[in-house]
Amino acid sequence: MKVVFVSAEVAPFAKVGGLADVAAALPRALHQLGVEVAVVMPKYRGVGDKTELLELGQLEVPVGGERKAGEVFQGTLPGTEVPVYFLAHDPYFDRPHIYGEAGGDYPDSLARFTFLSRGAVELCRQFSLEPDVIHANDWHTALIPVYQRLGLGVPGAKTILTVHNLAYQGVFPWEQAPLTGVPEEGLGLIKKAGKLNLLRGGILSCDLLTTVSPTYAREILEQGEGLEEELGSRREALVGVLNGVDYEVWNPETDPYLWANYSPQALEGKWENKLRLQEELGLEQAPGVPLVGMISRLAEQKGFDLVMGAIDRLLALGIQFVLLGTGDPRYEEFFRGASARYPGRVAALITFSEEWAHRIEAACDIFLMPSRFEPCGLNQMYSLRYGAVPVVRATGGLVDTVRECDPERGTGNGFLFRNYTPEALLGAVRRAVQLYREQPKVWRELMVRGMREDHSWGAAARQYVGLYRELTGQSGA
Ligand code: ADP
Repeated sequence: MKVVFVSAEVAPFAKVGGLADVAAALPRALHQLGVEVAVVMPKYRGVGDKTELLELGQLEVPVGGERKAGEVFQGTLPGTEVPVYFLAHDPYFDRPHIYGEAGGDYPDSLARFTFLSRGAVELCRQFSLEPDVIHANDWHTALIPVYQRLGLGVPGAKTILTVHNLAYQGVFPWEQAPLTGVPEEGLGLIKKAGKLNLLRGGILSCDLLTTVSPTYAREILEQGEGLEEELGSRREALVGVLNGVDYEVWNPETDPYLWANYSPQALEGKWENKLRLQEELGLEQAPGVPLVGMISRLAEQKGFDLVMGAIDRLLALGIQFVLLGTGDPRYEEFFRGASARYPGRVAALITFSEEWAHRIEAACDIFLMPSRFEPCGLNQMYSLRYGAVPVVRATGGLVDTVRECDPERGTGNGFLFRNYTPEALLGAVRRAVQLYREQPKVWRELMVRGMREDHSWGAAARQYVGLYRELTGQSGA
């Protein structure tokens, strides 16, 4: 089974959010199951520092009426033999950011990701990759199934489109439609409410549609960010497959970013990480104060309005708070302000840092994800493994991974709240803090239970292989 996996982000080459982690971990897991998988992504600035690049040759990619000159480089996913094909066109991709500045998009996003989508197809054709399945991800590559359906794709290949986040649909002014190269008869597929909508085209054209958790798959049929009708029409083709965790990367026993490694049997290292983090970030060195953390794109989706509405009352619970994130300047300013108002109690790292992401998971007692919606969410699963008990809103993939703790029965792995209000958030954090303070032994058991759970990619990868088989009628890997 040959699969070409196409994504705008792939860790560690280019990462903004969870898509990057999935686009690295899933191909790795598929490879281990014997699938012949290759990854395709843009050659952004700096990727050559992370893998050895072999120049494979030139590629011409139609974008609008022009044929853009591209180049293909080959590297590998670190620690694997999975080939990664980097599509280069420096005017599009040799830039300081992946999408744009301050959580925004470059004005020529449509041309950039048309190049990626059409380029992936051209790569398969011109370099004879002959995939059985092309696996596209999110709006950036949603044109691939459209090309495929209209006969501009790769002969014989089936397409899967995975929606990692329905809120991002690739919407552009209709006048820009010619850039996509979609012929007249197919334009209806990518038109919605008078605008160009790439995700719509992908949803309607793909052979199989997946999203990243069973709950989100159900939710979007009801609340589909305006695409309910399209999703409803593909109900039979829609499957929710829960993402996993790459425990090679997220494992407190071996994590090289931590000050001290630890495990469920030997937790001392966790307390050391907490103290070191407090020291490094100027928080009071207090081992007994519950440390609450968040690591996130600073986007409305992630529930920051709730945190803003509750911050003073949260701190009145006697906690410390650490945030790592970049994005919407409104939230950046708020958290900078909060750390100034609460010196020694609130730390705000307004940056993107893999290293600090790992350290915060290791140092925190509680991890907060109050998302308004959450297709899957990875951080709650990382935090489980790192012994940072998740407090989450009951939505999307958070429902599929976090279960309310019952101290009496000794069940559950975290705390959930349902209403999208600061009060509901506060209530859940209060429950957590109370247990932490009043029943330390029960808290420790809760932590360890979470650390021992298995959310690895194996099960998800097997499910994807099953779907590939269904699509192609092949029985092997
Ligand atoms: P989303 O994909 O919606 O951003 P996820 O929880 O699925 O949310 O994945 C987020 C990923 O991005 C996690 O791996 C998280 O650690 C990482 N991340 C988000 N913001 C930052 C940041 N500022 N620094 C480092 N990692 C970050």
